[in-house]
Amino acid sequence: PRLHVAADLGPGAVLPLDRAQANYLLNVLRRGPADPVLLFNGRDGEWRAEIAPTGRKSADLVVRERTREQPPRAGLQYLFAPLKTARLDYMAQKAVEMGAGTLRPVITRYTQGERLNLDRLRANAVEAAEQCGVLSLPDVPDPVKLPAALADLNPLCLLVFCDEDAAVSDPVEALRRGVADPAEPPPLAVLVGPEGGFASEERALILARPNTVALSLGPRILRADTAAVAVLALVQAVLGD
Ligand code: SAM
Repeated sequence: PRLHVAADLGPGAVLPLDRAQANYLLNVLRRGPADPVLLFNGRDGEWRAEIAPTGRKSADLVVRERTREQPPRAGLQYLFAPLKTARLDYMAQKAVEMGAGTLRPVITRYTQGERLNLDRLRANAVEAAEQCGVLSLPDVPDPVKLPAALADLNPLCLLVFCDEDAAVSDPVEALRRGVADPAEPPPLAVLVGPEGGFASEERALILARPNTVALSLGPRILRADTAAVAVLALVQAVLGD
C-alpha cells in the first residue's frame, strides 16, 4: 500500500500511525511487520517503510530507503466548474488519475455546486494520488471566476476547451494543431463546464483567448465528470505528459 504522510521522510524515521491508518493497515489490509509500506509526503519522494506493531490496534512505521525521487508536479491544469458533491468527488479523483497536477475550480454563471468544500476536494486529490502513485500532491487553489482563471493562464498555455457546441472536428488534429512544436509542447490546461453548460458570453470570452482549442467530444452531451475522463485521456494520448 502507499500512504501519504505529512512528516519528513528519511532513513530511520519512526512515524507513529494514527488509529485510522493503523486500523487500515493492520486490520483492513491485514499487513504485518514484514510487509512493506510505501510513503510519500509530496516533498521527499517515495520511501519504503516497515510496520512495527506497538499494540493490537497501533503501530509505527519505520522508514527504510527511498524508492523513487521526488518528481516535479505534473504541469497539466484541469479547470472545472464545481459540480454537486458526489460527482465532484469522482471528477477530482479522475482528473488526478488522468494526469492533472492542478485542479482549478472556476466559478461560472451556471455553476451549481453548493458551497465548494475545498478541504474535501483536496482530500480527494490526495486519496487519488495515493491510489494511482502520483508523488506530488495535486494543487487545488481557491476558486476564481472564469475571467480571472483565463487571465491567470500562462499566455503560451494551450487551453483545451471542452465544448459540446464545437464543430465535431477531428479532435486529434485539433489538438495537434494547437501545438507548434511537438518536441516542446506548451503548458496545457483543460476546461470543462458545469452541468448547466457555459453562458454564451462565457463561451465567447473563452474562444477569444489565443492558444485555445475548442474540442468536441462527440455528438452526445456528456456529464462534466465524463468529459473530464474523456478529454484528459485524449490529451494524454495525443500530447503525452
Ligand atoms: N450545455 C450542456 C447541455 O446542453 O446540457 C450541459 C453541459 S455538459 C453537462 C457539462 C460540460 O461537459 C460542458 O460544459 C462541456 O465542457 C463538457 N461536455 C459535455 N459534452 C461534451 C461534448 N460532446 N464535447 C465536448 N465537451 C462536452
